[in-house]
Amino acid sequence: MAEPFIKGKVVKVAGPLIIAEGMPDVQMFDVVRVGKDELIGEVIELRGDKASIQVYEETAGLGPGDPVYSTGEPLSVELAPGLIGGIYDGIQRPLTALYNKSGNRIQRGVEVLKLNTEKKWKFHPVAKVGDRVGPGDTLGTVKETEAVTQKIMVPERTYGTVEWIYEGEATIKEPIAKLKLENKEVKEIPMLRSWPVRKGRPYAEKFAPNEPMVTGQRVIDSLFPIAKGGIAAIPGPFGSGKTVVQHQLAKWADADIIVYIGCGERGNEMTDVLMEFPELKDPRTGLSLMERTVLIANTSDMPVAAREASIYTGISIAEYFRDMGFKVAIMADSTSRWAEALREMSGRLEEMPGEEGYPAYLSSRLAEFYERAGFVRCLGKDEDNKPRYGAVTAIGAVSPPGGDISEPVAQATLRIVKVFWNLSAQLAYQRHFPAIDWLQSYSLYSEQMYPYFNRVVNEHWSENIKEALKILQREAELDEIVQLVGFDAIAFNDRMLLDCAQSIRDDFLHQIAFDKVDTYTSLDKQYQMLNMILLWYKLGLDALDKGVKFEDLEHMAVRERIGRMKYVPESDIKTVYPEIHNELENEIRDLIDKVVDES
Ligand code: ADP
Repeated sequence: MAEPFIKGKVVKVAGPLIIAEGMPDVQMFDVVRVGKDELIGEVIELRGDKASIQVYEETAGLGPGDPVYSTGEPLSVELAPGLIGGIYDGIQRPLTALYNKSGNRIQRGVEVLKLNTEKKWKFHPVAKVGDRVGPGDTLGTVKETEAVTQKIMVPERTYGTVEWIYEGEATIKEPIAKLKLENKEVKEIPMLRSWPVRKGRPYAEKFAPNEPMVTGQRVIDSLFPIAKGGIAAIPGPFGSGKTVVQHQLAKWADADIIVYIGCGERGNEMTDVLMEFPELKDPRTGLSLMERTVLIANTSDMPVAAREASIYTGISIAEYFRDMGFKVAIMADSTSRWAEALREMSGRLEEMPGEEGYPAYLSSRLAEFYERAGFVRCLGKDEDNKPRYGAVTAIGAVSPPGGDISEPVAQATLRIVKVFWNLSAQLAYQRHFPAIDWLQSYSLYSEQMYPYFNRVVNEHWSENIKEALKILQREAELDEIVQLVGFDAIAFNDRMLLDCAQSIRDDFLHQIAFDKVDTYTSLDKQYQMLNMILLWYKLGLDALDKGVKFEDLEHMAVRERIGRMKYVPESDIKTVYPEIHNELENEIRDLIDKVVDES
């Protein structure tokens, strides 16, 4: 902590909010220490010489007259090797260190280091003496874990010439380079950076995302894809499979780094995450998922204010890794709990309440968070002089009370995000997993992503997806008609459509996370699976025209094989696909031949 230099005193305590006076020079979002326990707080409103401070710790025992010190610094994260694998609270205090220091219940005002400042990291220089460098240029690298090598970059607004560069072991506070700045001053650069959490980190240029973040989850990649650098929301009524979806994304999404922010309401929800995440294995490397994960957890013994800060802490860390050219996925679970924290603080500030008591700035705050995601060209360059591109993909879980998405947080979120995976309690009840409702979900990236899929997977990708979506919609309409007039009253080609829709749902969309093969499907295999279902439908309709009976088409032997394609390992699908394809064509031909013979 910096030397405190502004001292005021408490005039009022209202839960996590305190009002202090006698602090004329204090700035918005400055970090302050309150009372003799030096509780950590942040200035969130200034009126005259009165400062409203949200305190990140239990305020019981504080009273008027207690001292308040300003640190003169905004709430910041520390960025350096040592972040990966960390489990932090909302203001980046490592939970393990907190618990070690103060036991099961976190004591107040505990000062712990955010990052380990004693550990030595092996620094490999990239820049050379005499190089002219600017913000974002790579000075060197540190292999932090098996999965992550950090780039140590020139800090913001720093231009100069490399005068000295280190090679070997160093702590994050020791200098690894010396730069001669334009004003001739020599600046020592350590690995450690500090960044104010409420400010987005700079980048050179932001682009519309043009590539999907492949998840191996068929309903997501095929029907409702998310772009690298895109933003998505996922509402999760209890038991709808939200946790499983998030774990699947953390395990399988083609992201280099995962930042997971847990704002659980109940303590045990968060404990689950803290227990489960470190157990998860990265399926591609067999290493622990923590080798490329940062966890931020708001435990039940932390007051609401820390929850408010946690999403900024999380996204700042995500941006830091994006600066290095990584593809980062950040998951916030849940933004509803975060919004409740915002509401509580707003209420205590006696602001004019908006809808359902949420402050009027709820939408803009949510937007500020999601806007920090994106696909960018990073500042600076690597040794090969090539530009560097990185992405932060943000996925926010929403947990509206009673699962009602017409409430303000869900509505505000829906106006911002481009992908909506609507987890449906009803589908979960029917054991259709992932319970992403295909009629209500959407992805506004689909059109942007089609050229990629058509080029990389198959030229007919987008055609097939559009057809599948049309079939599913038509199924819903037909279902209503069937309920009115009965199944027997609808035409055979409509019955073919209903059968096809069922096959899309059961054989393609339904995906079991716990099955060794089914848990992940490559894009190629996704295409083949769906293509085969649609081919059956197309050839079937044609055969129907030629007089083949619907019942015969419905009970074709090949359909069983189509349904089991999901269990065919990726390595075998290349040979199995043409086999099924042949079998389908032969069986159809036999049925048509039979009709011709009979007539
Ligand atoms: P939530 O977090 O929404 O309360 P969970 O993610 O814990 O719900 O899911 C509840 C249960 O649903 C899981 O224990 C599991 O049995 C089942 N489930 C969810 N998703 C899948 C899936 N993709 N494959 C198989 N089972 C699933």
